[in-house]
Amino acid sequence: MLRFFGMSIGWMAGMFLFTGCTPEEFSPFDGARAFSETEALVQISPRDAGTANGRIAAIHLETRLKALGYKTVIDTFLEKTPAGELFFSNVLGRLPGKTDRLIILASHFDTKAGISDDFQGANDSGSSSGVLLELARVLAQRAPYETEFLVAFFDGEECATKYGPTDGLHGSRHLAQKIATGGGADKVEAMILLDMVGDKDLNITTPRNCTQELVLELFSAAKSIGVRPKFSLAKGSILDDHVPFLLAGMPAIDVIDFEYGSEPGLNDYWHTTNDTMDKISVESLQIVGDVVFRMVENLQ
Ligand SMILES: [Zn+2]
Repeated sequence: MLRFFGMSIGWMAGMFLFTGCTPEEFSPFDGARAFSETEALVQISPRDAGTANGRIAAIHLETRLKALGYKTVIDTFLEKTPAGELFFSNVLGRLPGKTDRLIILASHFDTKAGISDDFQGANDSGSSSGVLLELARVLAQRAPYETEFLVAFFDGEECATKYGPTDGLHGSRHLAQKIATGGGADKVEAMILLDMVGDKDLNITTPRNCTQELVLELFSAAKSIGVRPKFSLAKGSILDDHVPFLLAGMPAIDVIDFEYGSEPGLNDYWHTTNDTMDKISVESLQIVGDVVFRMVENLQ
């Protein structure tokens, strides 16, 4: 009986060695950490572009990236908006690679202006910023990769009245133009945008206006870790921070769940004071983080 017991333990240990794997081995991405990062950013709310809180949020994100070992800069620039000229602050962090090929990982961090002093933007733009910081952590731990990584937090994604050349997408347009005029567009392997990725009822619907190869990479990464049903192709296009990169000739994809409400088909949490931390989950952040991590490793 005793011997049998000993063999059982040995057999079980063997099973664990051959078929088991710890969560860390499966993916180093930690959804709970991403949730905490989201919570910390959401403490700074609202964080509209051009406001003191917006600037505080930018400094907070830069401090976090610095602590993770990134070379950082806050790129501040002045642009026209329907509300007059405003200062915007893109937060950028670089992780050197073995080659000059580049992957850009991005999220916006500003909140939609004029909703309410209570507006938190937990999902839009807290969740994607939290996932991005956690991705930045795991990539820094495993660096150097073949590609360099540019982690970009965009200011001014939200429009004041209506999207146009001087309203909305300020940060992404600014960075895409900077890369293109500096002759760096050809070196960009992928621009991967995260937006609204924390909804408890996660359904990533990648818009049609994304680079097809990157959509296939995303779906293949999702399939390989068993979460493919959470990812599909949207019926239409979405104007988001990936668009300036597409227009400048860079491969780009928007990882977004653009249905955020109390019932399927409703979007009643979006851009309302209902966009709070209780609507997002560690599990959803974990899924998106795992998939994007797998995707960028596959792109090496
Ligand atoms: Zn928004």
